Amino acid sequence: MLSVVPRAISVRAPSKVNLHLAVGDLRPDGYHELTTVFQALSLSDQVDLVPAPALTVRVRGEGARDVPTDRRNLVWKAATRLAHRAGREPLVEISIDKGIPVAGGMAGGSADAAAALLGLNALWQLDLSRDELAEFALELGSDVPFAMHGGTALGTGRGEKLLPVLARDTFHWVLAFGKGGLSTPDVFRELDRLRGQGQPPKLGDPEKLMHALAAGDPAQLAPLLGNDLQAAAISLKPELRRTLRAGITAGALAGIVSGSGPTCAFLCADADAAVEVSTELSGAGVCRSVRVAYGPVSGARVIDIEPIV
Ligand code: ATP
Repeated sequence: MLSVVPRAISVRAPSKVNLHLAVGDLRPDGYHELTTVFQALSLSDQVDLVPAPALTVRVRGEGARDVPTDRRNLVWKAATRLAHRAGREPLVEISIDKGIPVAGGMAGGSADAAAALLGLNALWQLDLSRDELAEFALELGSDVPFAMHGGTALGTGRGEKLLPVLARDTFHWVLAFGKGGLSTPDVFRELDRLRGQGQPPKLGDPEKLMHALAAGDPAQLAPLLGNDLQAAAISLKPELRRTLRAGITAGALAGIVSGSGPTCAFLCADADAAVEVSTELSGAGVCRSVRVAYGPVSGARVIDIEPIV
């Protein structure tokens, strides 16, 4: 509980990559049954919250033009629902500084929603526990609880039932942002279509991958990375095949499509290798832009509080 009344609050929330994303059958509620291992990455968004006469959302940074600033934005939903629960009006200006690519398969919207929940809990002095916030998080989207949780975690159900996974040391990644985004529902639909034609084969369980994480060995982890959505993302954006090949040629240990894509994530041997891979990939002309990142990092966290003086 904060001892001062905050005047403004800044929260940072991580992106994610799915090291293992096994997509099961379509459930009656329209969601697919997932088994996934998430890792939270240092590539992040910052969300600033300041009391204001009305709810407003502003967005700048990576892909800002493609992000709605009205009720369609997940932070808008987070603010109105939390305010309703607290019996107050959502009188806050929310400014999002995006580092996470929009519709990139790295759960940027979910990161912003988690950041908004955490920040408003502090700004409005609601004193909700992390568990209570996690329940709210799930109402906003399947990936929001993980953005709150961070680290490395096994997700089941819609991906929202989380168990921490031991990951020794830090893993180093290069991220290649695609030209344009991919809609997550479209990618799931494409997977259903491909499976209707009898392909591609389904991923197994992530047991070996979890051992490699516990060992902290990127070379052991690399061949175990897998994503059932990758074939569907490539089917919708065939140029991703070239991007994935280019990352390996540049020296990455392995490359996968991140979540529903089109961001490609390349696991590298260490921090120096990641810088080399990123430099070479930038020059290869196979993606819009390239970033270096590491994980695991923590979930959404308050980075600055401006107290009332
Ligand atoms: P997923 O969590 O399904 O992997 P993603 O990472 O592919 O999602 P997001 O960047 O979260 O994609 O955005 C998906 C869509 O959600 C965007 O096209 C945008 O219209 C909408 N959206 C709503 N709120 C936000 C937000 N705060 N940041 C980015 N996109 C948002």
